[in-house]
Amino acid sequence: MKKCLLSSISITPVFKDNNMNIPFVNLSREADYFLPLLLQKTEKVLKSGIYINGPNVKELEKKVAIYLNVKYVVSVGNGSDALTFILRSLNLSSSDEIICPANSFIATAWSIIASGAKPVFCDVDKNFLLDIDDFKKKVNNNTRAVIPVHLTGKVFPTEQILDFCSAKSIKIIEDAAQSFGAGKNNEYKTGAISDAAAFSLHPLKNFAIYGDGGLISTNDPEIADNCNLLRNHGLKNRDEAKIWGYNSRLDELQAAYALTKLAEIDNLNNRYIEIAKRYDNGISPIAKKPELRKEYKDVFHNYVILVPEIRRNSIMSNLYQKGIETKIHYPIPLHLQECSKNLNYKIGDIPRCEQYANSMISLPIYPTLSNEEVDYIIDTLNNELMSI
Ligand SMILES: *Cc1c(COP(=O)(O)O)cnc(C)c1O
Repeated sequence: MKKCLLSSISITPVFKDNNMNIPFVNLSREADYFLPLLLQKTEKVLKSGIYINGPNVKELEKKVAIYLNVKYVVSVGNGSDALTFILRSLNLSSSDEIICPANSFIATAWSIIASGAKPVFCDVDKNFLLDIDDFKKKVNNNTRAVIPVHLTGKVFPTEQILDFCSAKSIKIIEDAAQSFGAGKNNEYKTGAISDAAAFSLHPLKNFAIYGDGGLISTNDPEIADNCNLLRNHGLKNRDEAKIWGYNSRLDELQAAYALTKLAEIDNLNNRYIEIAKRYDNGISPIAKKPELRKEYKDVFHNYVILVPEIRRNSIMSNLYQKGIETKIHYPIPLHLQECSKNLNYKIGDIPRCEQYANSMISLPIYPTLSNEEVDYIIDTLNNELMSI
């Protein structure tokens, strides 16, 4: 394994003179689109005098539960806390192990640390999702839970591990931070068939608000009750604290914004999918493109291609020079992060994940990206791929 894994790439932030300037995300463009509705909601909330634990939060939780087809939805301050509160509801100790893929955002592993258990990292498959064979190999008597991550909005096939996990009393906790609205066609949505799931409403996610926020979905009344206490100081009423807890609530303004976005989430997701199809049609097969699966509704929170490792950084910086900003999700796998040091992993331990980390490029993908911009990205990328 080459050492460039840890050398994060640096790209000079200078755009050449041209008409196209496509940042990796463009949040204000989408905010413009929703602005009239958001302003109405803002005024209503501000005038109501209720800013925490009010009607918008309750309505959001109810509507999301209906949307996902689950019994309970608990809103919290962010997606990391959503995961943490679910895991804390399992009453874990330091000898308990929780398995998660090594290619994810750092918060997936943090939630395991925050719950008092030990993270065990496993490899990913060609869709960048938990590799089921490697997962099964890493299960032992201490394994209490697994966290499949629906990375890039691609659906991890939870149904394929249900029997295995229930036979071994392993809880399945989905990290659905990037996959709201994704699912298996007409069968389930992510977050609905496991023990519990965590969603993030962070501005960079596909179900995004205008600040931090998170959601927990579950059919388990004990997990729901416990998360309800944990988000609000452990208080069961104004004066009595049943358990030690956090202050991590979704506020009324953000809940109102989330309701606005929820009403449009399928349209927003469909635009991600449309762009993914356009990329798939247009981009040269020299790059390895994500599979367009028929049996799953993948919502393409990110569109990640693989290019030859030795050319990855130059392709990214050449695209940048031509006005196209790209990113890597994620350049440093969880087991090789500095904070993972005392978990004692080394380069080579999780090979496919490490190889992908060196060859991935995430292209811009968001609902307000125009077809003209997508085509410019396709043409520029193809020129780059075909030049040696
Ligand atoms: C964003 C993200 C989280 C954490 O969500 P926050 O709302 O930022 O705390 C967890 N897991 C994954 C895969 C994410 O992308």
